[in-house]
Amino acid sequence: MSVVCDKNKVLVIIKAMAEKLISEKEYLTELDTKIGDGDHGISMERGFSAIQNKLPEIEDKDIGTILKTLGMTLVSSVGGASGPLLGTAFMYAGNQVIGKESLNLEDGAKIAKAALDGVLKRGKANLKDKTMVDTISPVVDFLNSSEVEGKDALEILKSVEEIAKQGMESTKSLMALKGRASFLKERSIGHLDPGAVSSYLIIQTIVKELLITFSEG
Ligand code: ADP
Ligand code: MG
Repeated sequence: MSVVCDKNKVLVIIKAMAEKLISEKEYLTELDTKIGDGDHGISMERGFSAIQNKLPEIEDKDIGTILKTLGMTLVSSVGGASGPLLGTAFMYAGNQVIGKESLNLEDGAKIAKAALDGVLKRGKANLKDKTMVDTISPVVDFLNSSEVEGKDALEILKSVEEIAKQGMESTKSLMALKGRASFLKERSIGHLDPGAVSSYLIIQTIVKELLITFSEG
């Protein structure tokens, strides 16, 4: 399988991800004000600013070590539930690709699965509990299914973005069963889950940056 992402691109993606999450601070906080404690945007800004500060130290490391360090940075810099959850996701993802300087589609499917495993292990949520799992899990299923066979990377990436978006949107009509929003019971229905949205923004950025690489040839 051909290489889809070298280490420099991984760094470009992480930087773009940090900028995106920081720029969406107000929106994420607004979402968390509706069904949580209004800190999700602040947490993401804190975590991704810490990543921006950490990156210069680790840029010469392999992809696995970079992802793992990124995860540990999120865990240690964010107080809310989302920091340890996303941080564990990046740590598990990194563990799959220690020593690698480039990733192919198979690696992508593997690290996505590991990231989800990390979130599930730490948070013990099920699908439809109205969490970030609702965004991530359908993408992992797709990437690890026979549906990707015979498709080119471009098609796969576009599907990934669409599936993540649908997953995020699906949280609106759900009642929260995990996390702070679950305290609201039925009143959590009708609002997007903030963590499902931030996970979508992460996936959206990865797809967008990879599509740029492909369009450059
Ligand atoms: P906190 O709830 O501690 O204030 P944040 O506001 O930063 O943390 O993050 C809230 C998000 O974390 C939720 O929108 C949800 O997506 C996610 N979340 C909370 N608990 C869990 C869990 N057990 N499993 C998966 N995701 C969770
Ligand atoms: Mg919160």
